[in-house]
Amino acid sequence: KNANGNYEVTLIPGDGIGPEISESVQQIFEAAKVPIEWESVNVTPILRNGRTTIPDDALHSVQKNTIALKGPLATPIGKGHVSMNLTLRRTFNLYANVRPCKSIVGYKTPYENVNTVLIRENTEGEYSGIEHEVVSGVVQSIKLITKKASERCARFAFDYAQKSGRNHVTAVHKANIMKLSDGLFLSACQEVAKEYPNVQFDDILLDRACLQITQDPVNFNHTVMVMPNLYGDILSDMCAGLIGGLGLTPSGNIGRDASIFESVHGTAPDIAGQDKANPTALLLSSVMMLRHMRLNNYADTIEGAALKTIASGKDLTGDLGGNGTCSAFTKQIIRNL
Ligand code: NAD
Repeated sequence: KNANGNYEVTLIPGDGIGPEISESVQQIFEAAKVPIEWESVNVTPILRNGRTTIPDDALHSVQKNTIALKGPLATPIGKGHVSMNLTLRRTFNLYANVRPCKSIVGYKTPYENVNTVLIRENTEGEYSGIEHEVVSGVVQSIKLITKKASERCARFAFDYAQKSGRNHVTAVHKANIMKLSDGLFLSACQEVAKEYPNVQFDDILLDRACLQITQDPVNFNHTVMVMPNLYGDILSDMCAGLIGGLGLTPSGNIGRDASIFESVHGTAPDIAGQDKANPTALLLSSVMMLRHMRLNNYADTIEGAALKTIASGKDLTGDLGGNGTCSAFTKQIIRNL
Protein backbone atom coordinates (compact mmCIF):
# COMPACT_ATOMS: atom_id res chain seq x y z
CA LYS A 1 0.00 0.00 0.00
CA ASN A 2 1.23 3.52 -0.73
CA ALA A 3 0.78 6.74 1.26
CA ASN A 4 -2.73 7.16 -0.17
CA GLY A 5 -3.74 3.77 1.23
CA ASN A 6 -3.87 2.26 -2.26
CA TYR A 7 -2.12 -0.80 -3.64
CA GLU A 8 0.30 -0.13 -6.48
CA VAL A 9 -0.03 -2.65 -9.29
CA THR A 10 1.97 -2.84 -12.50
CA LEU A 11 -0.07 -2.74 -15.71
CA ILE A 12 1.45 -4.07 -18.92
CA PRO A 13 -1.15 -3.06 -21.55
CA GLY A 14 0.53 -5.18 -24.23
CA ASP A 15 0.18 -5.18 -28.01
CA GLY A 16 -2.70 -5.39 -30.50
CA ILE A 17 -6.02 -5.31 -28.61
CA GLY A 18 -4.05 -5.11 -25.31
CA PRO A 19 -4.38 -1.32 -24.82
CA GLU A 20 -8.16 -1.41 -25.54
CA ILE A 21 -8.97 -4.21 -23.12
CA SER A 22 -6.60 -2.72 -20.50
CA GLU A 23 -8.44 0.61 -20.77
CA SER A 24 -11.71 -1.25 -20.23
CA VAL A 25 -10.39 -2.92 -17.05
CA GLN A 26 -9.07 0.40 -15.75
CA GLN A 27 -12.45 2.09 -16.29
CA ILE A 28 -14.30 -0.72 -14.52
CA PHE A 29 -11.84 -0.67 -11.58
CA GLU A 30 -12.26 3.08 -11.26
CA ALA A 31 -16.06 2.82 -11.29
CA ALA A 32 -15.92 0.02 -8.67
CA LYS A 33 -13.57 2.19 -6.55
CA VAL A 34 -10.96 -0.55 -6.25
CA PRO A 35 -8.11 0.77 -4.05
CA ILE A 36 -5.47 0.25 -6.73
CA GLU A 37 -3.14 2.69 -8.46
CA TRP A 38 -1.86 1.39 -11.78
CA GLU A 39 1.75 1.80 -12.82
CA SER A 40 1.61 1.39 -16.57
CA VAL A 41 4.81 0.09 -18.21
CA ASN A 42 5.94 -0.93 -21.65
CA VAL A 43 7.75 -4.25 -22.13
CA THR A 44 8.75 -3.85 -25.79
CA PRO A 45 12.03 -5.77 -25.71
CA ILE A 46 15.37 -3.96 -25.76
CA LEU A 47 18.73 -5.36 -26.82
CA ARG A 48 21.36 -5.62 -24.08
CA ASN A 49 24.72 -7.33 -24.63
CA GLY A 50 23.31 -9.00 -27.71
CA ARG A 51 20.32 -10.42 -25.81
CA THR A 52 16.77 -9.22 -25.80
CA THR A 53 15.44 -8.31 -22.41
CA ILE A 54 12.74 -6.38 -20.57
CA PRO A 55 13.25 -2.59 -20.23
CA ASP A 56 14.51 -1.57 -16.78
CA ASP A 57 11.49 0.49 -15.72
CA ALA A 58 9.17 -2.45 -16.40
CA LEU A 59 11.49 -4.81 -14.54
CA HIS A 60 11.75 -2.51 -11.52
CA SER A 61 8.03 -1.85 -11.44
CA VAL A 62 7.16 -5.57 -11.27
CA GLN A 63 9.96 -6.16 -8.75
CA LYS A 64 8.67 -3.39 -6.52
CA ASN A 65 4.94 -4.10 -6.75
CA THR A 66 5.18 -7.93 -7.05
CA ILE A 67 1.74 -7.94 -8.70
CA ALA A 68 1.03 -7.22 -12.35
CA LEU A 69 -1.83 -7.39 -14.82
CA LYS A 70 -0.70 -8.07 -18.36
CA GLY A 71 -2.31 -7.77 -21.77
CA PRO A 72 -1.18 -10.03 -24.62
CA LEU A 73 2.25 -9.57 -26.18
CA ALA A 74 3.06 -10.23 -29.82
CA THR A 75 5.78 -12.79 -30.41
CA PRO A 76 7.21 -12.28 -33.90
CA ILE A 77 7.94 -15.70 -35.38
CA GLY A 78 11.54 -16.22 -36.50
CA LYS A 79 12.65 -12.61 -35.88
CA GLY A 80 15.35 -13.76 -33.49
CA HIS A 81 14.04 -12.50 -30.18
CA VAL A 82 12.72 -14.86 -27.56
CA SER A 83 9.14 -14.70 -26.39
CA MET A 84 8.65 -11.90 -23.84
CA ASN A 85 6.11 -14.12 -22.11
CA LEU A 86 8.80 -16.76 -21.55
CA THR A 87 11.26 -14.05 -20.46
CA LEU A 88 8.79 -12.72 -17.87
CA ARG A 89 8.21 -16.28 -16.59
CA ARG A 90 11.94 -16.87 -16.18
CA THR A 91 12.77 -13.42 -14.81
CA PHE A 92 10.20 -13.57 -12.02
CA ASN A 93 10.26 -17.32 -11.36
CA LEU A 94 6.59 -17.71 -12.21
CA TYR A 95 6.42 -21.38 -11.24
CA ALA A 96 2.70 -22.17 -11.34
CA ASN A 97 0.11 -21.23 -13.95
CA VAL A 98 -3.47 -21.33 -12.70
CA ARG A 99 -6.21 -21.69 -15.28
CA PRO A 100 -9.80 -21.90 -14.13
CA CYS A 101 -12.52 -22.61 -16.71
CA LYS A 102 -16.06 -21.88 -15.65
CA SER A 103 -19.17 -21.96 -17.86
CA ILE A 104 -20.66 -18.51 -18.39
CA VAL A 105 -24.44 -18.24 -18.25
CA GLY A 106 -25.68 -16.66 -21.46
CA TYR A 107 -22.88 -18.04 -23.59
CA LYS A 108 -23.99 -21.43 -24.79
CA THR A 109 -21.54 -24.21 -25.60
CA PRO A 110 -22.11 -27.97 -25.89
CA TYR A 111 -21.12 -28.28 -22.22
CA GLU A 112 -22.93 -26.92 -19.16
CA ASN A 113 -21.81 -26.22 -15.60
CA VAL A 114 -18.10 -26.63 -16.34
CA ASN A 115 -15.98 -25.45 -13.40
CA THR A 116 -12.48 -26.88 -13.74
CA VAL A 117 -9.27 -25.59 -12.16
CA LEU A 118 -5.95 -26.62 -13.63
CA ILE A 119 -2.48 -25.83 -12.30
CA ARG A 120 0.40 -26.17 -14.69
CA GLU A 121 4.07 -26.40 -13.65
CA ASN A 122 5.46 -23.39 -15.49
CA THR A 123 9.27 -23.63 -15.43
CA GLU A 124 10.57 -26.99 -16.62
CA GLY A 125 9.43 -30.32 -18.10
CA GLU A 126 9.37 -30.39 -21.88
CA TYR A 127 9.80 -26.59 -21.99
CA SER A 128 13.31 -26.58 -20.54
CA GLY A 129 14.66 -25.78 -24.00
CA ILE A 130 17.36 -28.48 -23.88
CA GLU A 131 17.43 -29.93 -27.38
CA HIS A 132 20.24 -31.11 -29.62
CA GLU A 133 21.00 -33.06 -32.73
CA VAL A 134 22.69 -36.37 -31.96
CA VAL A 135 23.61 -37.09 -35.58
CA SER A 136 21.98 -35.80 -38.76
CA GLY A 137 18.36 -36.91 -38.77
CA VAL A 138 18.29 -37.74 -35.07
CA VAL A 139 17.43 -35.14 -32.41
CA GLN A 140 17.01 -35.39 -28.70
CA SER A 141 14.89 -33.18 -26.46
CA ILE A 142 15.31 -33.42 -22.73
CA LYS A 143 12.35 -33.29 -20.39
CA LEU A 144 13.75 -32.02 -17.15
CA ILE A 145 11.80 -32.70 -13.96
CA THR A 146 13.14 -31.75 -10.54
CA LYS A 147 11.85 -32.67 -7.10
CA LYS A 148 12.17 -29.03 -6.05
CA ALA A 149 10.00 -27.53 -8.81
CA SER A 150 7.49 -30.39 -8.62
CA GLU A 151 7.07 -29.96 -4.86
CA ARG A 152 6.77 -26.19 -5.18
CA CYS A 153 4.01 -26.56 -7.75
CA ALA A 154 2.29 -29.35 -5.78
CA ARG A 155 2.37 -27.28 -2.58
CA PHE A 156 0.77 -24.38 -4.42
CA ALA A 157 -1.95 -26.74 -5.71
CA PHE A 158 -2.73 -28.03 -2.21
CA ASP A 159 -2.79 -24.48 -0.81
CA TYR A 160 -5.11 -23.45 -3.62
CA ALA A 161 -7.36 -26.47 -2.97
CA GLN A 162 -7.57 -25.52 0.69
CA LYS A 163 -8.23 -21.83 0.10
CA SER A 164 -10.78 -22.42 -2.65
CA GLY A 165 -12.66 -24.97 -0.55
CA ARG A 166 -12.28 -27.71 -3.14
CA ASN A 167 -10.16 -29.72 -0.71
CA HIS A 168 -9.16 -32.18 -3.38
CA VAL A 169 -6.09 -32.40 -5.62
CA THR A 170 -5.69 -34.67 -8.66
CA ALA A 171 -2.23 -35.16 -10.18
CA VAL A 172 -2.37 -35.71 -13.96
CA HIS A 173 0.60 -37.66 -15.39
CA LYS A 174 1.96 -40.49 -17.53
CA ALA A 175 4.06 -42.16 -14.86
CA ASN A 176 3.15 -45.54 -16.31
CA ILE A 177 5.33 -44.72 -19.35
CA MET A 178 7.67 -41.97 -18.10
CA LYS A 179 8.46 -43.80 -14.92
CA LEU A 180 11.35 -41.60 -13.79
CA SER A 181 10.28 -38.09 -14.83
CA ASP A 182 6.52 -38.22 -14.31
CA GLY A 183 7.19 -40.72 -11.53
CA LEU A 184 9.15 -38.02 -9.70
CA PHE A 185 6.41 -35.44 -10.27
CA LEU A 186 3.80 -37.88 -8.92
CA SER A 187 5.87 -38.88 -5.89
CA ALA A 188 6.47 -35.18 -5.11
CA CYS A 189 2.68 -34.68 -5.10
CA GLN A 190 2.23 -37.75 -2.88
CA GLU A 191 4.83 -36.42 -0.44
CA VAL A 192 3.25 -32.96 -0.28
CA ALA A 193 -0.20 -34.58 0.19
CA LYS A 194 0.99 -35.85 3.59
CA GLU A 195 1.35 -32.22 4.75
CA TYR A 196 -2.34 -31.62 3.96
CA PRO A 197 -4.35 -34.29 5.77
CA ASN A 198 -7.58 -32.34 5.16
CA VAL A 199 -7.13 -32.30 1.38
CA GLN A 200 -7.97 -35.48 -0.51
CA PHE A 201 -5.50 -36.62 -3.12
CA ASP A 202 -5.71 -38.89 -6.13
CA ASP A 203 -4.08 -39.15 -9.54
CA ILE A 204 -5.13 -39.93 -13.10
CA LEU A 205 -3.36 -40.73 -16.36
CA LEU A 206 -3.42 -37.83 -18.83
CA ASP A 207 -5.18 -39.78 -21.60
CA ARG A 208 -7.83 -41.01 -19.19
CA ALA A 209 -8.31 -37.43 -17.95
CA CYS A 210 -8.87 -36.15 -21.54
CA LEU A 211 -11.43 -38.85 -22.18
CA GLN A 212 -13.32 -38.27 -18.94
CA ILE A 213 -13.27 -34.47 -19.17
CA THR A 214 -14.70 -34.44 -22.70
CA GLN A 215 -17.31 -37.06 -21.73
CA ASP A 216 -18.47 -35.12 -18.67
CA PRO A 217 -16.33 -32.26 -17.34
CA VAL A 218 -18.62 -31.82 -14.31
CA ASN A 219 -16.87 -34.83 -12.75
CA PHE A 220 -13.81 -32.58 -12.32
CA ASN A 221 -15.60 -29.65 -10.65
CA HIS A 222 -14.63 -30.82 -7.16
CA THR A 223 -10.87 -31.01 -7.62
CA VAL A 224 -7.75 -29.02 -8.49
CA MET A 225 -5.77 -30.71 -11.26
CA VAL A 226 -1.99 -30.33 -11.13
CA MET A 227 0.44 -31.47 -13.82
CA PRO A 228 3.79 -31.01 -15.61
CA ASN A 229 4.26 -28.17 -18.09
CA LEU A 230 3.33 -29.59 -21.52
CA TYR A 231 0.30 -31.52 -20.27
CA GLY A 232 -0.96 -28.34 -18.58
CA ASP A 233 -0.47 -26.30 -21.73
CA ILE A 234 -2.56 -28.68 -23.81
CA LEU A 235 -5.18 -29.72 -21.26
CA SER A 236 -5.90 -26.11 -20.25
CA ASP A 237 -6.69 -25.16 -23.86
CA MET A 238 -8.94 -28.20 -24.07
CA CYS A 239 -10.79 -27.03 -20.95
CA ALA A 240 -11.00 -23.49 -22.38
CA GLY A 241 -12.70 -24.97 -25.44
CA LEU A 242 -15.42 -26.46 -23.23
CA ILE A 243 -16.57 -23.02 -22.06
CA GLY A 244 -16.30 -21.14 -25.33
CA GLY A 245 -12.63 -20.36 -25.68
CA LEU A 246 -10.37 -17.41 -25.92
CA GLY A 247 -12.42 -14.30 -25.20
CA LEU A 248 -13.39 -15.64 -21.78
CA THR A 249 -10.49 -17.48 -20.15
CA PRO A 250 -8.30 -15.85 -17.49
CA SER A 251 -5.06 -17.08 -15.96
CA GLY A 252 -2.59 -16.31 -13.23
CA ASN A 253 1.16 -16.91 -13.21
CA ILE A 254 2.12 -17.34 -9.58
CA GLY A 255 5.77 -16.85 -8.75
CA ARG A 256 8.46 -16.58 -6.16
CA ASP A 257 9.31 -12.96 -6.95
CA ALA A 258 6.01 -11.72 -8.40
CA SER A 259 2.66 -12.86 -9.74
CA ILE A 260 1.41 -11.85 -13.17
CA PHE A 261 -2.23 -12.22 -14.23
CA GLU A 262 -3.13 -12.35 -17.92
CA SER A 263 -5.76 -13.39 -20.42
CA VAL A 264 -5.03 -16.64 -22.24
CA HIS A 265 -5.68 -15.15 -25.71
CA GLY A 266 -3.19 -13.31 -27.92
CA THR A 267 -3.07 -9.84 -29.47
CA ALA A 268 -5.89 -10.49 -32.00
CA PRO A 269 -4.23 -8.44 -34.78
CA ASP A 270 -7.28 -8.96 -37.04
CA ILE A 271 -9.48 -6.77 -34.82
CA ALA A 272 -6.90 -4.54 -33.07
CA GLY A 273 -7.67 -0.83 -32.88
CA GLN A 274 -11.30 -1.30 -33.99
CA ASP A 275 -13.05 -1.29 -30.60
CA LYS A 276 -14.22 -4.87 -31.25
CA ALA A 277 -12.27 -6.80 -28.59
CA ASN A 278 -13.93 -8.62 -25.74
CA PRO A 279 -12.32 -7.47 -22.47
CA THR A 280 -13.81 -10.32 -20.39
CA ALA A 281 -10.72 -12.56 -20.29
CA LEU A 282 -8.48 -9.75 -19.02
CA LEU A 283 -11.20 -8.57 -16.64
CA LEU A 284 -11.59 -12.08 -15.17
CA SER A 285 -7.79 -12.26 -14.88
CA SER A 286 -7.94 -9.03 -12.88
CA VAL A 287 -10.64 -10.63 -10.71
CA MET A 288 -8.23 -13.53 -10.02
CA MET A 289 -5.62 -10.91 -9.16
CA LEU A 290 -7.96 -9.19 -6.68
CA ARG A 291 -8.65 -12.53 -4.96
CA HIS A 292 -4.89 -13.19 -4.84
CA MET A 293 -4.57 -9.79 -3.09
CA ARG A 294 -7.43 -10.77 -0.76
CA LEU A 295 -9.62 -7.96 -2.11
CA ASN A 296 -12.46 -10.49 -2.43
CA ASN A 297 -15.36 -8.04 -2.14
CA TYR A 298 -14.17 -6.04 -5.13
CA ALA A 299 -13.51 -9.28 -7.03
CA ASP A 300 -17.06 -10.52 -6.37
CA THR A 301 -18.63 -7.19 -7.41
CA ILE A 302 -16.73 -6.96 -10.69
CA GLU A 303 -17.15 -10.63 -11.58
CA GLY A 304 -20.88 -10.39 -10.82
CA ALA A 305 -21.28 -7.36 -13.08
CA ALA A 306 -19.39 -9.00 -15.95
CA LEU A 307 -21.42 -12.21 -15.74
CA LYS A 308 -24.67 -10.28 -15.45
CA THR A 309 -23.78 -8.28 -18.56
CA ILE A 310 -23.01 -11.40 -20.59
CA ALA A 311 -26.19 -13.11 -19.37
CA SER A 312 -28.25 -10.04 -20.40
CA GLY A 313 -26.98 -10.40 -23.96
CA LYS A 314 -26.75 -6.59 -24.33
CA ASP A 315 -23.84 -5.03 -26.25
CA LEU A 316 -21.96 -8.35 -26.47
CA THR A 317 -18.86 -8.28 -28.66
CA GLY A 318 -18.56 -10.15 -31.94
CA ASP A 319 -16.79 -13.22 -30.54
CA LEU A 320 -19.85 -13.78 -28.30
CA GLY A 321 -22.20 -13.47 -31.25
CA GLY A 322 -23.20 -9.85 -30.63
CA ASN A 323 -22.40 -6.64 -32.47
CA GLY A 324 -21.45 -4.42 -29.53
CA THR A 325 -18.15 -2.62 -29.13
CA CYS A 326 -15.56 -3.04 -26.41
CA SER A 327 -16.46 0.40 -25.03
CA ALA A 328 -20.26 -0.18 -25.07
CA PHE A 329 -19.80 -3.57 -23.39
CA THR A 330 -17.57 -1.91 -20.77
CA LYS A 331 -20.27 0.70 -20.08
CA GLN A 332 -22.84 -2.07 -19.56
CA ILE A 333 -20.55 -3.75 -17.02
CA ILE A 334 -20.11 -0.45 -15.18
CA ARG A 335 -23.90 -0.01 -15.12
CA ASN A 336 -24.23 -3.49 -13.63
CA LEU A 337 -21.67 -2.97 -10.85
P1 NAD B 1 -5.15 -14.65 -30.83
O1 NAD B 1 -5.62 -15.17 -29.52
O2 NAD B 1 -4.55 -13.30 -30.82
O3 NAD B 1 -6.36 -14.63 -31.87
C1 NAD B 1 -7.08 -15.79 -32.29
C2 NAD B 1 -8.49 -15.38 -32.72
O4 NAD B 1 -9.28 -15.08 -31.56
C3 NAD B 1 -8.55 -14.13 -33.60
O5 NAD B 1 -9.56 -14.27 -34.56
C4 NAD B 1 -8.91 -13.02 -32.62
O6 NAD B 1 -9.61 -11.95 -33.22
C5 NAD B 1 -9.78 -13.76 -31.61
N1 NAD B 1 -9.66 -13.15 -30.27
C6 NAD B 1 -8.64 -13.32 -29.38
N2 NAD B 1 -8.86 -12.60 -28.28
C7 NAD B 1 -10.04 -11.97 -28.46
C8 NAD B 1 -10.79 -11.07 -27.64
N3 NAD B 1 -10.38 -10.68 -26.44
N4 NAD B 1 -11.94 -10.60 -28.15
C9 NAD B 1 -12.39 -10.98 -29.35
N5 NAD B 1 -11.72 -11.82 -30.17
C10 NAD B 1 -10.55 -12.32 -29.71
O7 NAD B 1 -4.10 -15.71 -31.41
P2 NAD B 1 -3.06 -15.58 -32.61
O8 NAD B 1 -3.68 -14.84 -33.74
O9 NAD B 1 -2.55 -16.95 -32.80
O10 NAD B 1 -1.85 -14.72 -32.03
C11 NAD B 1 -1.63 -13.34 -32.30
C12 NAD B 1 -0.40 -12.85 -31.54
O11 NAD B 1 -0.60 -12.99 -30.13
C13 NAD B 1 0.89 -13.61 -31.85
O12 NAD B 1 1.95 -12.67 -31.96
C14 NAD B 1 1.10 -14.50 -30.64
O13 NAD B 1 2.45 -14.78 -30.41
C15 NAD B 1 0.53 -13.63 -29.54
N6 NAD B 1 0.08 -14.39 -28.33
C16 NAD B 1 0.36 -13.84 -27.14
C17 NAD B 1 -0.10 -14.45 -25.97
C18 NAD B 1 0.23 -13.82 -24.65
O14 NAD B 1 0.74 -12.72 -24.60
N7 NAD B 1 -0.07 -14.47 -23.54
C19 NAD B 1 -0.85 -15.63 -26.05
C20 NAD B 1 -1.16 -16.14 -27.31
C21 NAD B 1 -0.69 -15.51 -28.45
